[in-house]
Amino acid sequence: MNAPVSTSSRGGAWLLEPTEGAGAFTPEQFSEEQRLIAQTADEFVQQEVLPVLELMEQKDWKIARSLVQRAGELGLLGVDVPEAYGGVGLDKVTSIIVSERVAACASFAATFGGQANLTVLPIFLFGTEAQKQKYLPKLLSGELVGAYALSEPGSGSDALGAKAKAVRQPDGSFVLSGEKMWITNGGFADLFIVFAKVDGEQFSCFIVERAFKGVSNGKEEHKMGLLGSSTTPLILQDVKVPAENLLGEVGKGHKVAFNVLNFGRFKLGAMCSGGARVAIGEAAKYAAQRKQFGQPIANFGAIKHKLAEMTIRQYAIESLVYRTGGLIDATLAATPHEATDGSPVLAAVEEFAVEASIAKVAGSEMLDYVLDENVQIHGGNGFVADYPAERHYRDARVNRIFEGTNEINRMLIPGMLVRRALKGDLPLVAAARQLQAEILEPSAPAVAGGDGRPLADERRTLAACKKVGLMALGLAMQRYGQSLTDQQEVLMYVSDILMDVYSAESAVLRALDSQARKIGTADLQTDAARVFVSDAAARVESNARCALAAMAEGDTLRTQLAALRRLLKVVPVDTVTLRRRIAEAVTAKGGYIFG
Ligand SMILES: Cc1cc2nc3c(=O)[nH]c(=O)nc-3n(C[C@H](O)[C@H](O)[C@H](O)COP(=O)(O)OP(=O)(O)OC[C@H]3O[C@@H](n4cnc5c(N)ncnc54)[C@H](O)[C@@H]3O)c2cc1C
Repeated sequence: MNAPVSTSSRGGAWLLEPTEGAGAFTPEQFSEEQRLIAQTADEFVQQEVLPVLELMEQKDWKIARSLVQRAGELGLLGVDVPEAYGGVGLDKVTSIIVSERVAACASFAATFGGQANLTVLPIFLFGTEAQKQKYLPKLLSGELVGAYALSEPGSGSDALGAKAKAVRQPDGSFVLSGEKMWITNGGFADLFIVFAKVDGEQFSCFIVERAFKGVSNGKEEHKMGLLGSSTTPLILQDVKVPAENLLGEVGKGHKVAFNVLNFGRFKLGAMCSGGARVAIGEAAKYAAQRKQFGQPIANFGAIKHKLAEMTIRQYAIESLVYRTGGLIDATLAATPHEATDGSPVLAAVEEFAVEASIAKVAGSEMLDYVLDENVQIHGGNGFVADYPAERHYRDARVNRIFEGTNEINRMLIPGMLVRRALKGDLPLVAAARQLQAEILEPSAPAVAGGDGRPLADERRTLAACKKVGLMALGLAMQRYGQSLTDQQEVLMYVSDILMDVYSAESAVLRALDSQARKIGTADLQTDAARVFVSDAAARVESNARCALAAMAEGDTLRTQLAALRRLLKVVPVDTVTLRRRIAEAVTAKGGYIFG
């Protein structure tokens, strides 16, 4: 395994620390073993999954089940689990690689995620030794298929509002009743991670086998996309669940639910990156062969802009996803622990929960942009089922809805930072106060100049964007105090600024690393980072203006806006020339050029 390069092991610290000196794990640092796993996963999806997708879209779940088994044989299901339970026990970067590559077939990625992330992880992270021994080897070989049953007809985002009941019996067992909704793998799973309230109050988690009397699933949902994955209600009619199938503690089900979601969000970001890679390849090939006005449409500036922008946005997300994976691995490496002990993994993933939410929101929105442009580049052919562009477009839409909607995650990003600050885990309040004093001085200088190394202007712009993010968040905390959570519109602006900062910095760090390693695409990576930072700075300014105008008025607002202008005195780069260079490389390669 490569030692991930990173200076900061605290989640959210990037907002307060300078870009200079920070390191990041990047796809260019993959080990031989990681490259091999990427290749195995790629070949599995291309040769074994995609050829049977149509059958799965007709709900042939025997095929889906056999593919889960095949993924188990190849070791793809067990990356996060030690060998003692039948896994392969590799690092989180490898886990991201698998998620990213499996996402080349979105329907199967949902089935795979339902198993490897939503069933295996809760049992590994919260199970007793007996539960792990009993269920994990069979789940990791694919002999058993699992599903995760949290949502209900009346509670989706408000997951703790669940109505499903678990009534404690004198012999220690529980009787579960209720209905769960939208359960991935619901039509054929053998095992369900079910959330229900003990005695109507204490939110708890259980391992429920389909073989238990009273367990059944409802009809398949008629979905917009992911037609090759099963989604059904789960019906629990007085299901007797033995005491030993309680997962975690009574009343602590939220710990299971929220930690699994953290993990899931981080992997969903990787899946979005995987989907975008595929679509960029399709768009590039189509644009090179489709002729209009006597020439390939790839020659037109409007199409070049699209191909380049798809690539640049994907580059930023891929960079932030692997950077986060590297940070989690570095944190784990610094915590001596037994491989069978899941608690350090939980702590490391929780440490980077803000980054996981960013990966989920920014990743899913990047993917929707890329897939929309893929349809557009295909013209009429993008709107019909003869080409995969149409299916990708439908399949991806749900990424903004599940694993916590993008609205809920947008609230969580600044919300979690504020909580960490109030707990004293992050010196955000002091930094915001110092910044306020500094920037409200009329004579305050713009952020200091570059150092002659590559991307000096971009690093300067990033420093300014960080200050703007800190200023907006600090002012929001000061203005609203305890009632900040009621100010969702302001929180969304702040969230968008923070996402742009983390994405842009991840792209810059990767381009710098590639320059230092003399990677063949380093100059194109630098172009991509320059375009992303230039556009991000404009978005940051616009979001900050809206947030500030909601929080202040009159002279105070005017002073703040003057400070904002001083900070973000950014000369835009020639994005047209940079994008053309990237587009031409994408067309020449017939696909995504990085990673
Ligand atoms: C294909 C598919 C597969 C799924 N798989 C699973 C699965 O395997 N297991 C499982 O348990 N669930 C699963 N889900 C359910 C999914 O997690 C929920 O749909 C999701 O959490 C949103 O809940 P909801 O649909 O009830 O929407 P709601 O919570 O009703 O939200 C509706 C809208 O209101 C917004 N909203 C809600 N609350 C707030 C708030 N406080 N502030 C601001 N905006 C708010 C939301 O962002 C959204 O835009 C799946 C869903 C789909 C479509």
